[in-house]
Parts: sequence; C-alpha cells; structure tokens
Amino acid sequence: MFKVLKHSNNHLKISANGYTLMLIAQLSDFEKIDSKNIDGFVIDTTKPKEAYKIITHLKVKTTLKESLKPLFVPSHNLLPKFITCHTDGVLDQSQLAITMERVAVITSKIKDVKLTNTDNYETMVTARVLGFLYTRNQLLTPIVHRQSNIGYTYPVLSLLYKENEALAMLQLAQKIAANGWGNAKLKDHIHLCKGCHGNYFNFREVCGACNSIDISPQDMIHHFVCAHVAPATDFKKEEELSCPKCDKHLRHIGIDYDKPSTIYHCNSCSHEFQQPKMEALCMDCETINGLDELIQQPILELSITQKGEQLLFNTQSKTITKDNNLSIENKCTEALFQIILKQEINRIKTHNCKSVYAQIHLNNPTIKSLNSIAKQAFHNELLQIINSYLLESDIIASESFELYHLLLPNTSFKELERLENIEYNVQKLLTDNIENQPNQVQIKIHNITGSDEVGELISG
Ligand SMILES: [Zn+2]
Ligand SMILES: [Zn+2]
Ligand SMILES: [Zn+2]
Repeated sequence: MFKVLKHSNNHLKISANGYTLMLIAQLSDFEKIDSKNIDGFVIDTTKPKEAYKIITHLKVKTTLKESLKPLFVPSHNLLPKFITCHTDGVLDQSQLAITMERVAVITSKIKDVKLTNTDNYETMVTARVLGFLYTRNQLLTPIVHRQSNIGYTYPVLSLLYKENEALAMLQLAQKIAANGWGNAKLKDHIHLCKGCHGNYFNFREVCGACNSIDISPQDMIHHFVCAHVAPATDFKKEEELSCPKCDKHLRHIGIDYDKPSTIYHCNSCSHEFQQPKMEALCMDCETINGLDELIQQPILELSITQKGEQLLFNTQSKTITKDNNLSIENKCTEALFQIILKQEINRIKTHNCKSVYAQIHLNNPTIKSLNSIAKQAFHNELLQIINSYLLESDIIASESFELYHLLLPNTSFKELERLENIEYNVQKLLTDNIENQPNQVQIKIHNITGSDEVGELISG
C-alpha cells in the first residue's frame, strides 16, 4: 500500500494514494526540498523546541497556501499539547490510508482558497486562521497552557503574535467575530495586567489607607451586659477575656458576649477597617493592579461562517479592506454629528439617561508631514480601526486624521472598554509605523449632561 522512500539527500518521504508527505527533523530540511511536489509534512523530532521552530516556520513564514498544507506528528512522538494543537495530529503508519484520505480532503480545500498574500498584517493573520478552519473543517479552540502569558494558546493564531502581544491577538479574535467571518462561543474571561498584559497574579489584601500588606484580622467582641464593642485584643487579660469597660469576666460566647464581625488592623499605619482592599501583583512585571484596573478579555472559540469562507474564495485581499469600508455606516459629517449631539443632549435633559461624548486627538508631526494621498490612507486605516470597536449605535465623525468625534449613546463611564481598545490599537498602529513618539493618542471623555452646549463640547 505505501512505501517509505529513502531520498538521495537522506530525507524521508512517505507516499501513498498519490500523495506524498515529507519528514522534517529540523528547520534546515525545508531548504532541501521542492515543496511544490510535497502535499504535507511530518515533524520528525522529539525535541519540543525544534518542533516548535518547524511549526512556526510553516505556519508563519510561508505563503498562505503553503501554510495550510497538512502537518502531522508521528505516533511515537509525545510532544506537548501546546505544540500539537497547531498540527493535524498524529500520523499512525498502520492507518496510513485514513491519514492520506485526510490529506486529500485538505489538499482539495486548499485549492478553493484564492486569497493571495497581503501586506496588511491583520488581514494576513485573519486569512491564515480562517484558512486553517476552512481546510480542516474544525473549530478554533483555545487550550489551557500554563506557560503562556495569558494561560491559553490558540491553534495557529498564537503563532502569529509575540507573547507580549496577547491583547492584540485576543482583539483580532473578537474582530473576526464582529465582522461576521466567524461565530464566537465564550469559553472564559481572563484578566490582564495593565503593565504587561500577562495574567499571572498574586491576589492579596492590603490596607485601604497606606496599601501595606502587613494587616491582621481581629475579631470584634460585643459584651451583652454593658453593650461595649471593641477588638478582641482590648478584652484580653493574660489567658482570659475581661471587659475593659465594666471589668467583668467574659465566660460563654453566645451567652454573655458574641463576635459580630471581623476588623482589620494595619500594622504599618494603625488604620482600622472592615473591608481590606484587594490588589493583584503581576508576577511577570511586578506592576500592582487595582482590581478595577485589570483588563478583562474574553477567550473565544471560533468557527468559520459562510461570510468568512467567501473571504477566502475571493482573489483580492482587498476584500477585507473593502468590507471594512462598507461597514463604516456609523460615520457621518461633522455638521450632522453636531445635530445628532444636540438631540442627544435634549434626550438626556428629558430622559435622564447616560451617554458619553469622546474626542480622540492624534498629535503626530510625522503624519502631518506626509503627502495628501499617504495622509488619506492613514486616515482610512485609523477610521477602520476605531470603527471596528464601535457598537452599531455609536456615531463617529472625522474630517481629518487628527481629530475624531464619538457619540456613545446609553453608555456610562464604566462601559468604556471599547475606548481602551481603540486607544491601544491606534497607538499600536502609530508605533508600528512611525518611530516611537510618546503620548500620540489623547482621548477626552465627557459624560453628557442636559446643560451641555454642542459648540463647547466639540471644541474640546
Ligand atoms: Zn505585568
Ligand atoms: Zn495602613
Ligand atoms: Zn462590659
């Protein structure tokens, strides 16, 4: 049925049913082959580091179609799951016919993919992820992974981002769902450090006044006879309890006294309090995060939709950009924005609801000095990024790349996660493309009240 061919250059091939798989033991093996005649690959090493390099090379550094070719690990090869999750699983030589049927299906589906390589990184990543889902007919299921910065690894997708870019990666998964290219199922919520976006924390209770961790809980004692309430230490006399107010001995809990609550004492500043403050110390970068400062992100499981498949079947990678352009339905002129804002102020006056006006200001001399075509391209890209995080009910107006007006109806200050996402991604676009200049993105937010004036708001 099948034969293992020894190649002149010592490389092994496995051929059956008209398909050929190549055994790859190290990265340099890729250089020695003409991959056009190879239908797939088998990782032929037990070293996780080498296997990871091979996978990363194939999934990240090759063309889209090449990256989608079948990739197996041998059955004797006990590589960890965070490595095998990017592959097509185990190749069982005794069941080679079944494996080759799988190769045939994947190969024919790769032929359907018409989208070519693109310079836009997000588009490229989206295509690789959607291509993987389409050709494998499977879900993109994140696996728990203790060594990952965020505790999870996504098949393929995780290979396309560095460890410290986890937030951008998670946001891309959300974007795939938001654009209708994938269906999302919520698997988990994670919380990320504001400093490094990792999620390995030590949660601890601290003093609300001085933030010291040196706090001790103490029982409160309530003496029924005289109604005195004080910390237990005030009642201690050697081994016994004695009331500091009426001098009587306390004998039986529940009969002459009880312990109604616990109080904390700070050994650093002597502050006494009932509720200690919680904070999260990042075990990677040592940033102390308040609980409300942790960045909450969903862990999504994705499946490809019809719309996502269409994206792969189209020859032009521009489709993604076009699609995005069309979806800027929320954009209006500044004049119309002022009218809508005025109506919103009136609505708040009568209905007492909560809405937010936000102004995004970019201060970047490098973009200012670009020619008008390049400036326009930058403006479009920024609009797409901002728009991709807005809700359908939000409205945006922008007549230059420097200034964006946003109206976020029925939104309170606690619900501004989308502005955080926008700030992060706009900043990232700027720093990725232009040499690092700090504070390029400024977002002003204002809780709209019934007494606001449109002119004053718009002018910032
Ligand atoms: Zn951190
Ligand atoms: Zn204190
Ligand atoms: Zn007493």
